[in-house]
Amino acid sequence: MSLEAARAGDRKVVTAFIGVGANLGFARDAVLNALADLSRLPMTDFVASSSLYRSAPVEGDGPDYINAVAEITTQQSAHELLLALQALETKYGRVRTTRNAPRTLDLDLLLYGDGILKTPDLTVPHPRIAERAFVLMPLMELAGSISIPGHGRADVLVERITGQEIERLES
Ligand code: ATP
Ligand code: CA
Ligand code: CA
Repeated sequence: MSLEAARAGDRKVVTAFIGVGANLGFARDAVLNALADLSRLPMTDFVASSSLYRSAPVEGDGPDYINAVAEITTQQSAHELLLALQALETKYGRVRTTRNAPRTLDLDLLLYGDGILKTPDLTVPHPRIAERAFVLMPLMELAGSISIPGHGRADVLVERITGQEIERLES
């Protein structure tokens, strides 16, 4: 969309959910600070964040993760959001090495309204959303029995997950 169109108010307001995770360094601080950063994204309002969770790495190694999910409303496109999330990851010192390697901050675009998107650099809903307790549990805190496009209800999906260690942290 052109800047002119944006200024003319053609952008839609969309509810999006962002998965936040970290397992290196001061992971809890990184997650809390990243949530604050999300609230300051342009054209975006912060709606709510979940509790923090501690989870064991899934298909990876290293220290436990601290996870949370944020709900925002935004006029940014899904691709603009992805770029903004990647810029924040870089700000927190994220270095990409091997798949599922420990990281100082990971921000995933989980849901963008009821949109389904498949492009080389962005898939929405997030491709592994339905198989991760550390995503579904905080998401359900914010959105109860939300339906995930192409997958079904979060509360049904979470019941199918076995063998993932996760605990909700007291605030
Ligand atoms: P996973 O995707 O399994 O959670 P990860 O978060 O460790 O693993 P990254 O290295 O952070 O993976 O990202 C790999 C690529 O995934 C990014 O370069 C990005 O282009 C792409 N990607 C596709 N869909 C999404 C999405 N919905 N949110 C964030 N990144 C996405
Ligand atoms: Ca991820
Ligand atoms: Ca990611």
